[in-house]
Amino acid sequence: MDAILVLNSGSSSMKFSLFEIEDEHTSKQLACGLLEGIGTEPYFKAVNAEGKLLVEKSWGKASVGTHQEREHLVSYIDEWLENFLGEKTLRAVGHRVVHGGAKYIQPTIITDEVLLELERLTPFVPLHQPGSLAPIYTLRKKRKDLLQIACFDTSFHHTMPDVAKRLAIPRRYFDSDIRRYGFHGLSYQYIADQLKHISPKLAKGRVVVAHLGNGASLCAIKEGIGIETTMSFTALDGLVMGTRCGRIDPGVLLYMMREQNLNADQISDLLYRQSGLLGVSGISNDMRELRQFQRENNDSLPAKEALDLFSYRIVCEIGSLVAALGGLDGIVFTAGIGENDAELRERVCHSLAWLGIELDVAANNSGKPEVISTKNSQIEVRVIRTNEEQVMLKEIIGVINGVVAQPVLN
Ligand code: AMP
Repeated sequence: MDAILVLNSGSSSMKFSLFEIEDEHTSKQLACGLLEGIGTEPYFKAVNAEGKLLVEKSWGKASVGTHQEREHLVSYIDEWLENFLGEKTLRAVGHRVVHGGAKYIQPTIITDEVLLELERLTPFVPLHQPGSLAPIYTLRKKRKDLLQIACFDTSFHHTMPDVAKRLAIPRRYFDSDIRRYGFHGLSYQYIADQLKHISPKLAKGRVVVAHLGNGASLCAIKEGIGIETTMSFTALDGLVMGTRCGRIDPGVLLYMMREQNLNADQISDLLYRQSGLLGVSGISNDMRELRQFQRENNDSLPAKEALDLFSYRIVCEIGSLVAALGGLDGIVFTAGIGENDAELRERVCHSLAWLGIELDVAANNSGKPEVISTKNSQIEVRVIRTNEEQVMLKEIIGVINGVVAQPVLN
């Protein structure tokens, strides 16, 4: 029996799912796990398909540099997986890679040439791409013959029309790939696929998907095709996020540079790590913590202002995507906040009542929401739990079976 490993690697954490391929069309999950605290206090945990604990390990405070530490941790997990797999063969590993640039619009077998191109894209997303690429290097060292496949967060958006990809700066920049790309594509692909099964009407219609997690973005999907999104050149644009600022007047950055003498690294830290919900509230980047703080502190003003801004920006950006779509048939909420925060969904839906949205308050608060609009609502509103690993698995199997053509590089 063959197995496939799916890795979703971020700057300080790494999630994995392990699947057994039963035949060309079916696979079952064998295990999944999480490595977190890379660079601080690493902790690894894995469970089997029934949720039974398989392994748990902590390393205490990190004593080596992040790069070596990460290599050591990935090696540890690889050895654990080899043991766990026993007689089964690891056929391929698929990596979630944040940026595929203009070239990679399909899952792609990782070769030296591909890695070089992905490295070229690192300056576009310096805080995200290295985390995606690090386990690829470690596994290439350890298992030379293992098939490694990159699944891109940017691919879903390649169907955006040129006008949505362009920034209004001199055209030479567009020609050297400085353009709007969009991210969270694996999540949007999952939602678009799910809609085909659970709501064929929406799958053929005009939908805004709200991926609201620690990172947050919106995507406008028309007949299953992505036509606009709120993140753009980097994952910094668009909505207010946990610690990221979202859309900002570039004049603010010029002011910081000129008047406050901040350099690129300082501004990057400010906009990526100190802004968003955390920056505005001064309390937390985490929605659950903010809500709790607000409850315990009699509607704390800074928490309220952060939450107001978070939902206000979602409402404004949905308006903009509805304009790009030329109308609206449905909204889908997904990711940590979108799936779990009924209060946020209620607020956004009420603010958009003018679009013809009528919220089913009981369904929204049910704890297991699916359709949260009433029968009379002109817009269908749904909550769908995202599953990026499922999309990656499908893409990896497509590559293994030769269904996905590989890009030709020149
Ligand atoms: P993600 O990045 O998709 O894992 O989402 C993380 C965000 O989801 C954090 O801000 C969490 O506080 C938020 N979240 C998770 N569960 C809940 C919940 N039950 N209610 C509100 N927010 C939640």
